[in-house]
Amino acid sequence: MEETIFDNILKGDIPADVVYEDENILAFKDINPQAPIHVLVIPKKKVTSFNDLKDLSPEEVGVFLKGVSQVAVSLGLADDGYRIVMNCGSNGQQTVEYIHAHILGERQMKWPPG
Ligand code: AMP
Repeated sequence: MEETIFDNILKGDIPADVVYEDENILAFKDINPQAPIHVLVIPKKKVTSFNDLKDLSPEEVGVFLKGVSQVAVSLGLADDGYRIVMNCGSNGQQTVEYIHAHILGERQMKWPPG
């Protein structure tokens, strides 16, 4: 697996604006925010893309998804709502090959997403 910028953030080699961390996940602000709140959540156990979640245990998938929910709520977004985005592959416009969930909030989202 090729090393990505998120591997380097996890190792502490590249600085990030961390908003939450525990033994399973790291959450940090997106460097190019697309909403007033734009946070990325990654699992500490590396997974390349959404395609690979099928190879994890239900427990591992659950821990990641639960972490995303926990971070979104801790950011104060629960009442007004927010959007979770997980881009996958080239049609999905995934640019970093380390799975991540975008949490976007504090603005009205649109549909279709484009
Ligand atoms: P995606 O296009 O879904 O792969 O999302 C990758 C995201 O990572 C983009 O929204 C980038 O702005 C963000 N990003 C890239 N480098 C960094 C960095 N060093 N710190 C924080 N976010 C980053």
